[in-house]
Parts: sequence; C-alpha cells; structure tokens
Amino acid sequence: MEEKGLKISIAHLYPKLLNLYGDRGNVITLIKRCQWRGIEVDFEEINIGDNIKDHDLYFIGGGQDKQQEEVKDELFSKKNELLAQRDDGAVFLGICGGYQLFGHYYKPHGKDKLEGISLMDAYTVAGNKRFIGNVTVKTDFLTPDTLVGFENHSGLTYLEGDSKPLGKTVVGNGNNGKDKFEGGRYKNVFGTYLHGSLLPKNPHFADYLISLALEKRYGKKIILSELEDSFETEAHKSVIGKAY
Ligand code: GLN
Repeated sequence: MEEKGLKISIAHLYPKLLNLYGDRGNVITLIKRCQWRGIEVDFEEINIGDNIKDHDLYFIGGGQDKQQEEVKDELFSKKNELLAQRDDGAVFLGICGGYQLFGHYYKPHGKDKLEGISLMDAYTVAGNKRFIGNVTVKTDFLTPDTLVGFENHSGLTYLEGDSKPLGKTVVGNGNNGKDKFEGGRYKNVFGTYLHGSLLPKNPHFADYLISLALEKRYGKKIILSELEDSFETEAHKSVIGKAY
C-alpha cells in the first residue's frame, strides 16, 4: 500500500499541563514526518473537559507533581475509553510524568497516590534523589538499536506482569536506577523518561510509532519511505554514550 494519501489521527493529551521541556516537540515530529511523506494527519489537542475521541495515536508529555495532580482525575475519568483504545491497537507515547500515569499509580513524597489509568502493568513511587542527565538506551526492537534523551525525575518506576522495558540503560538511570530498565511497553503503549524532546533525535522511533499507527488504521504493515535524516542522525549520534 502506497503511503501517499494515507491518513492517521493524533491526539495530544493535556498539553496545557503536561508539556515539560518541550515534550510537544514529539507531536511536531510525528506530524511533520507524516506530512513529508504525503500522509495526512488529523490532529487535536485534548484539554480538561474535552471528550476523548478515537485516534490512532495518543501523546502525553511530562510534568511536575503539581501538574500531574491537576490532570490525574480527568485522565482517570477517561480510563475505560483509553483502555478500549489500547486494546483496539491504538499507539500511546507517554513521557515521564505522563508515562507514570500510564501505570497503576504514582506516589509522590508525603502525598496520597495519584491513580493512573493502568495502560501498562507498572507503578511509580517518589525516590529521594532526582535523576538528571543524558540517557542512552540499548533496545532490541529498533534500528539503530539506541534511543537517546534527557531525564529529570525523582519517580522510580517498576514494571510488572507483561510490561517490557524499551531497553537497558547504557548511560543514565532510567526507570529506577537499579534494574537498568528504561521505559515501558505493553501492546502499542510506550512510556519513557526520555525528554529532549525525544523523537526529533530518535527519528527511527518516530517512524516505528507512525508505522504502528498506520497498521492500526489500515490493518496491514505499511513500509515508510526513507527521509533525509542526516541532521537528526547527527543529533542522535552526538548524545550516544554521553552523561553530560
Ligand atoms: N513529577 C514526576 C517526577 O518528578 C515527573 C517529572 C517529569 O515529568 N519530568 O518523577
């Protein structure tokens, strides 16, 4: 199936609250990499009070504990719809605070748990140390097999059940600084601590997500054409292996 003229729909969840360190750059990357291939994108921002419609891909960014508290009740009220979207093959990408709310809960310091939407079997508890710095992750599903980004979180995330990590940390702390796991994946739900924003420096992961979203919509794997990624590849390579 020729990619030109195809369409995917993308929703950005709660960008007014969860968009730390320019996580919106991930949505811009997804949209541009579709448009550069002639793939049409239906895009909408979903803010507090909006209904959740069916989309092929949902994105949610990171945020400080305060913003997570402001979003969690609204997000929890959409849990059943989003679980149904997950089970229908929709793609999700959550960064840091958004990733934490993809699990069962996030327990900040000295506060009650923030209920998550259990898109993946994981939980997060606030640690005593803030993990800040560059991260390099070795994956087993991407080519090239690395992901690079920047972490800034105190939350410690633990994967359970059928949840798998995005990969192992080569540099940086990742989920909890102990099990060497970074990020999480279940079905087409992906979470990661990598800010940056992530996708501009990891175009291969952006295309992987776009391919999954197209497969969800059209029911078959669609091979994407190559884009001229020398600049993105240079940016990716410039971070690999570096802590600061
Ligand atoms: N508030 C969460 C933490 O500190 C998430 C932070 C973020 O999104 N960068 O772990």
